[in-house]
Amino acid sequence: MAARIIDGAAVARDIRAEAAAEVAQLRAEGTVPGLAVVLVGNDPASEVYVRSKTRACHEAGMHSRLVQLPAQSTADELFGTIDGLNADPGIHGMLVQLPLPPHLNPKLFLERVSPAKDVDGFHPMNVGRAFVGDPNGFVPATPEGIMELLRRERIDTHGKHAVIVGRSLIVSKPLASLLMAPGPNATVTLCHRHTADLAQHTRMADILVVAVGKPGLITGDMVKPGAAVFDVGVTRVDDPAAPKGYLIRGDVDFDAVSQVASAITPVPGGVGPMTIAMLLRNTITAARRAHDRTHRRTPAVAR
Ligand code: NAP
Repeated sequence: MAARIIDGAAVARDIRAEAAAEVAQLRAEGTVPGLAVVLVGNDPASEVYVRSKTRACHEAGMHSRLVQLPAQSTADELFGTIDGLNADPGIHGMLVQLPLPPHLNPKLFLERVSPAKDVDGFHPMNVGRAFVGDPNGFVPATPEGIMELLRRERIDTHGKHAVIVGRSLIVSKPLASLLMAPGPNATVTLCHRHTADLAQHTRMADILVVAVGKPGLITGDMVKPGAAVFDVGVTRVDDPAAPKGYLIRGDVDFDAVSQVASAITPVPGGVGPMTIAMLLRNTITAARRAHDRTHRRTPAVAR
């Protein structure tokens, strides 16, 4: 059986078109949604991600501001930048691009971002809101993107067994709480480096999500026939024959697993494009809430 390939790029294009329509509406009401990205240093992969985010903002009619600080910036300089953006009424969403240089502890800076502007959903206040199912926070973009793919691709989660490989705060833990919540109603297993017999767990999955960063970790014999497989992994693998000298690989052996699964996301073009689309959506939600606060309307409830 050859799996249906889930075209995350196409779904993301639809969401970005919907986002552009929401931005036009907010603009007509007098608010231009604004996203600020703080980048410290010159990590090449981070620069690529940041460029994609700012380009997507412009395409949706939003304002974006890139604040690039030198790699040797002090903690006080970064705190000052974040405080300035927290106070700026033209900025509704802000993110601090990770990884930071080793002398800057990310936890301190993620906690400095105002929870109302934390469109990455990494502030402990928003982590807690997501965990208790409070819709007034922000859910990180990648797990929200996977939930949106499940909805739009009509993949049933109710009563299904979802197995997530990885236990990060950015992807796997928030995804586990979204999947097990009333509504999706999945039964969730989280696996990690210390899981004994990983294959025994992955073979039980109706929905398998892999967020590890190890190309080829999931082979065909580790997947239950008919499962829906979401590959979050993004790893640059050197390939002198490739135009850029490297290829982007996921965690799943795509050729083998697509013969077993019923649906599968490719890498690239699967989960990745959804992340940026959901970041735009979070920023628009932040702008809508700020607009409604300013105009003393009942705040919009986040999706
Ligand atoms: P992470 O913080 O990089 O952690 C990786 C996780 O994988 C850890 O929980 C680790 O377990 C687990 N792991 C490592 N080796 C394993 C093994 N052999 N068996 C089972 N579990 C194993 O996770 P992340 O931030 O979620 O990133 C994961 C991947 O997704 C990376 O490739 C990243 O680039 C990619 N990513 C993609 C997007 C996107 O938009 N497409 C967004 C975010 C991340 P321990 O906790 O025990 O160490």
